[in-house]
Parts: sequence; structure tokens; C-alpha cells
Amino acid sequence: MPYPIAHVMFFVLCISAAMTYVTLGAVFRKEITPTNMLNVIILLFVGGIAALFPDVTAVYNILVNGTIEHVNLGPIPTHSILFSSLAFFMGIGIGYVVYRKYDKAIYMGIFAESASLSHLLLDDLARYEIDYFYPLYNTPISIFSYVDSSISRGSFLHYLLACYISIMLLFVVIMMALFALEHLGFEFRFRPKNE
Ligand SMILES: [Zn+2]
Repeated sequence: MPYPIAHVMFFVLCISAAMTYVTLGAVFRKEITPTNMLNVIILLFVGGIAALFPDVTAVYNILVNGTIEHVNLGPIPTHSILFSSLAFFMGIGIGYVVYRKYDKAIYMGIFAESASLSHLLLDDLARYEIDYFYPLYNTPISIFSYVDSSISRGSFLHYLLACYISIMLLFVVIMMALFALEHLGFEFRFRPKNE
């Protein structure tokens, strides 16, 4: 499994690249206030914690069971969309404490959920099989392994579908992060210049 820092970097530098780009620009132009910076740090904290969320059982199992098992909490696989959705509620809780507004708390929840899902995608990219659809489908799968499936091994339609599903999943997680960020102080707009 990728190291914890890799999960945090994948989320901050790749999935939330737009946030990092906008923040760095504001820092270099000296446009960012200490309050704005605090908001960014809170987002980085929530994103970082949520990006590590599916590995939370590593700490539990080391302390309680003396093992480094980190993909199951008892019979429940932590690397599943179901378990990752707990990050959504964690984000809502932190968001409400920080902003005291229900709508912003929901957006923080979506941001945290995108971070948690990005963990599953990076583990998948590292060629581990993930219990995405537990308990509906209990066989671990690696969606990204289909990306390099050869046309000769299946039909052209299968090849296209395999590519679409993995890339679309990555796209959806990035869109979730952007959607949440747009409501948490970041603005992404197309402003055509008048010629
Ligand atoms: Zn993991």
C-alpha cells in the first residue's frame, strides 16, 4: 500500500490541484490574509485526515491486535465506498464546528468524501484490489487494471468501457473536490477576455 504521505500528496497536489494552484498564486501575489490562510490550513487538515481515513484501522490493529492489518475492521473492509462514506460525516462534523453553517458543513463533508475516495483510487493505481462495492459485491477488484487491457483480449466495446469507468471515477472524485471547494471560498470561473 502507498505510504500515508503519498495519499495526502495525491489528494492535495493532484485531486485538489486547483486549490493548491489558487492558494500558491495568492501567496506569491501577497493577496492572502492570515484568516484566509487559516481556512486553507483547515481544508488541508480535513483533506489530509480524510485521505488517510481508509487506513484508520492500521492504528487500531497495531494497538489492540498487534498486527499491521489495515484493510479490515473486524469483518468490515475499510477500503470500500461504504466505509469511506464515514469521512463524509466526519467532514460535516468538522465543517459545522468551524463554520457554524449547515450548507458549508455539507460542502466540507463532500470535500472529505472526495479525499477518502481518492485513497481507494491511489491504492487501486498501486495495483491493489479494493472492496469498492462491499457489501453488495464482496470480491475485491482493481478498476485501473482494466486500463491497460489489450484490445486483442476482449471486444473493442469492452476496451472502451474499461477505460471509461476508471477515468470517469477519477473525474468524479476531482469534480466532487472542485464543487466543494467552490463553495468553501475558492472560485473557478472562465472569464473570456474582450478582444
Ligand atoms: Zn489503503
